[in-house]
Amino acid sequence: METLSVEEDVLHRFLLEGAGVRGVMVRLGAAWREVAGRADYPSALHAVLGEALAASALLTGNIKLDGALSIELKSNGALRMLFAECTDQGRLRGLARWNDPLSEPLELHALPGAIMAITIGNVERGQRYQGLVDLQHAGLAAALENYFIQSEQLPARIVLAVNADHAVGLMLQKMPTEGGRDAAQDEDAWGRVVALTDTLGADELLATPPEQLLFRLYHEETVRMFEPRPLAFGCSCSRERVATMLRSLGRDEVEAALAARGDEIEVICEFCAQRYYFDRIDAEHLLSESPAPVAPDTPQ
Ligand SMILES: [Zn+2]
Repeated sequence: METLSVEEDVLHRFLLEGAGVRGVMVRLGAAWREVAGRADYPSALHAVLGEALAASALLTGNIKLDGALSIELKSNGALRMLFAECTDQGRLRGLARWNDPLSEPLELHALPGAIMAITIGNVERGQRYQGLVDLQHAGLAAALENYFIQSEQLPARIVLAVNADHAVGLMLQKMPTEGGRDAAQDEDAWGRVVALTDTLGADELLATPPEQLLFRLYHEETVRMFEPRPLAFGCSCSRERVATMLRSLGRDEVEAALAARGDEIEVICEFCAQRYYFDRIDAEHLLSESPAPVAPDTPQ
């Protein structure tokens, strides 16, 4: 029996007021199991996908998001592609494609030709910001910490943990020093908070409800928590988007797909398993429409 509760997939924002630190904690349950259950992921990839999914939600915590935030990795190695996304409505989805055998542990920096990008914005309206993540750091959390230092010039600490039931992430960011606050004291406080965070084991992170964990870890730093945001598995696929994808393939491929299944095309969304069917009349109709621009290689 699967237990579904509102609290199971949740994002908490908080401040450590005494230390000048802001934080986000994400705990995924059902949403993670939905994503993980879509394919028979090798265990090393299962872990990285869960980390990326938790991280995609974490990174939405402190930004004003219109659209979605995605973390995408591509490589020429055994891990061909990994994608995790969280929308401004707290809808999460993700998937990975790989070739067997996948080496364990999965070292992102060792994947040939690996590129990781964080994309923020509204694809439909063409408003997108994209930043590349330097992968020369051990693990996704370290790579994202470095991304924050590069992009915001602010130190960040990110901890990610995954098991079969949960994917959890904790992110701390040093807030910009304001006039009046002692910079040296800030450095001290940041060091103290990082040291406390480093005492946290993956098992504890996975097993403890967020409020309890944050108060246990940082009770001396005055934890102020904001209203939690619910998260859930959700897919943004639609018949229209699938039609756009088919149109972008061109007539020859659409004809071949029709022929392969007795004058019908079946498209199954890899994120949510929703099935879309197009018969010959549908296909003619969509091919006759003027092509809409489609972002290359973006999962629909
Ligand atoms: Zn879908």
